Amino acid sequence: MLFIDQWITAYLAVVAAIIGAAGGSFINCLAWRTVHREKITSGRSHCTRCGHLLGVLDLVPVFSWVFLRGRCRYCKGKISPRYLAAELLMAGVSLCLLFRFDVSLSYLYYLGFSFLLLAVGLVDLESFRIPDRFQAALILWWCLFLPTHRGELVPYLADSLAGAVFISGGLLGISMVFDRILGKDSLGGGDIKLFFVTGLYLGAAVNLLNLIVSCLLGLLLGLVLSRMANHSENEENGENKAQPGTEKRDSGQIPFGPAIAMSSVLCVLIGRQLTGWYMSLF
Ligand SMILES: [Zn+2]
Repeated sequence: MLFIDQWITAYLAVVAAIIGAAGGSFINCLAWRTVHREKITSGRSHCTRCGHLLGVLDLVPVFSWVFLRGRCRYCKGKISPRYLAAELLMAGVSLCLLFRFDVSLSYLYYLGFSFLLLAVGLVDLESFRIPDRFQAALILWWCLFLPTHRGELVPYLADSLAGAVFISGGLLGISMVFDRILGKDSLGGGDIKLFFVTGLYLGAAVNLLNLIVSCLLGLLLGLVLSRMANHSENEENGENKAQPGTEKRDSGQIPFGPAIAMSSVLCVLIGRQLTGWYMSLF
């Protein structure tokens, strides 16, 4: 379908990018409301600073942020660049999925998976927790697409369950040992559950790759976040002292969810080829 004609390719690419950006914008709002304990169904979007209801022109993905130069139209307060980043990222992910899976149910399946992972990543980044309902939604989405799976269902199910149980079970064991040695939680329970869920989607071999890539990305993310924390701390000290009693981020705490989310999407795109190539070496 995708490569019938160059105009069709271009048209589908634009549609995929718009779907990704619009979905990214919605998920951002959903994640923010989850973290700040607002009802997800509590009406129209509003500015998180002044509370002004946002109009259609304020809600165009990517363009609104760029044209308003990252500021609210009403109170001129700064709008976090994470909105723009999530919209651009999801536009890119949607495009990559289209070129990987063409116009198919697989495209829809993995796009839903990516949107839910974005929600997990954003919530974990801000609140250091992964709510169980996101894991439940991911499992539900996986179950929903089971009947559409091409090929034999039993080997597919066996591979999925092996990927889920072995990786998360192994991690649980390792984290229990480290918890004992360190005397504190080394890996969050939400992260272990998330590896269970990604195992269902990716299967055993690719979920193992996912674990390795997640750790590498997690280290990278940890470095970036601690740099950013130091930077904002210096700025704060230079300008005005932090208010006593205000909550501050524990600099030793690193959210692992965003790294797992990014790695899982990478594994959807190129995981099978990479593990296949690795196996062919032996
Ligand atoms: Zn405002």
